[in-house]
Amino acid sequence: AVVVHRKMREAARWTRAMKIVKEFEEKCETPIGKLKLVADAMTVEMHAGLASEGGSKLKMLISYVDNLPTGNEKGLFYALDVGGTNFRVLRVQLGGKDAGIVNQQFTEVSIPPNLMTGTSDELFDFIVTELANFVAQEGPDFQLTPGMQRELGFTFSFPVIQSSIASGTLLRWTKGFSIDDTVGQDVVAELTKAMDRKGLDMRVTALVNDTVGTLAGGRYADSEVVAAVILGTGSNAAYVERSLAIPKWRGLPPKAGEMVINMEWGNFRSSHLPLTEYDHALDAESLNPGEQIYEKLISGMYLGEIVRRVLCRMAEEAAFFGDTVPPKLKVPFILRTPDMSAMHHDTSPDLKVVANKLKDILEISSSSLKMRKLIVALCNIVATRGARVAAAGILGILKKMGRDTIKDGEKQRTVIAVDGGLYEHYIEYQKCLENTVNELLGQDLSDSIELVHANDGSGIGAALLAASHSQYLEAEKP
Ligand code: BGC
Ligand code: MG
Repeated sequence: AVVVHRKMREAARWTRAMKIVKEFEEKCETPIGKLKLVADAMTVEMHAGLASEGGSKLKMLISYVDNLPTGNEKGLFYALDVGGTNFRVLRVQLGGKDAGIVNQQFTEVSIPPNLMTGTSDELFDFIVTELANFVAQEGPDFQLTPGMQRELGFTFSFPVIQSSIASGTLLRWTKGFSIDDTVGQDVVAELTKAMDRKGLDMRVTALVNDTVGTLAGGRYADSEVVAAVILGTGSNAAYVERSLAIPKWRGLPPKAGEMVINMEWGNFRSSHLPLTEYDHALDAESLNPGEQIYEKLISGMYLGEIVRRVLCRMAEEAAFFGDTVPPKLKVPFILRTPDMSAMHHDTSPDLKVVANKLKDILEISSSSLKMRKLIVALCNIVATRGARVAAAGILGILKKMGRDTIKDGEKQRTVIAVDGGLYEHYIEYQKCLENTVNELLGQDLSDSIELVHANDGSGIGAALLAASHSQYLEAEKP
């Protein structure tokens, strides 16, 4: 009788757990019709954000990049890429026409978590110390043109409203950073002050978002790159816009009649987005409630956390992991997206990777195969929703650029440079993104629109933009 009773109780628990997953799955559904509405909403918001400052949740920031790299850039340039838990410092020797990148070196440093929520000076001092160490190691393979000051392309991957190619004010932090005294400051001035404190003789000649850097790096490699998307810790996109289509632009008309726009699409939101109670709770408890809603649905910082929240509900309401809720499961952000990805890609017959992740991260020592399968299914729901909704955003950009239809029967090749750890390493996500873009475009168009992985294009891109905006070229400019 005891055994029978236990079995019945287990069956009831399982049914409840399944119900939680099923209900979640239904709310996460992204049929093509819905995705098209999301894409249309994205296009509408793009127009609104370009029309006036503050006209939309989409900031549609003017990057002051009106000419993309040509291949003629020459000399030694540095790039500093700050935007996530790691930052990178890079030097490239550009050989000019035909020679391309002659040499490059980089280093990657992780930012101590306490600096992500400390003071502005502490963060910039830390960054500049590493930058100075790196500069000091410059070997004979790199040659600074005599008489030149070292120049730096500064990739700063947060919403910044620029006032020129080399200055801009931080609007707010995203992605787990929260340092009040940087908000409202010119981040180039903050960096420059730290360089002065350290005695580092270097000048920022380009301040760029990572999407803009990736677009520049992508264009250098392939002249048909017209947009860039980052799917990493955070998410965002940039694309080339006609200057006449930017009513809010008050400056001189850009040289080539074009301007790169940093969309800050992470802050997009729409009633068509498949948001669930888990997403609302995640948002409410985040460092930036009410902001970056699209980012919270599609980017690497949040996917694992969404899975954790659903698992937590299953543990609480369906005793999915037994009579008590595993304490670790209650810790926000303990389940990182790379771990979720590892579980999702587990191909071993007994789902050993899932079992190990449960043990190592959540201290759940026993799980049945059936349970593990359900967890994999849950990862799939969250990743699929994210990738499909991201694909809809890409369609929104293509629509805005008028590249979502075939004009005069002529197929125009359109290339979108994509980078970010999520895209690069979460293969199921990447595949789903690509399939969905193709599905949305239809057979005829999908052949001419390509997503290419621009591996670390943003660092190179920033160095290239530093070169094309070098202070020593000033005299040649009209
Ligand atoms: C930031 C963007 C950035 C993106 C990808 C977002 O959180 O707001 O500026 O491009 O992350 O790094
Ligand atoms: Mg990479």
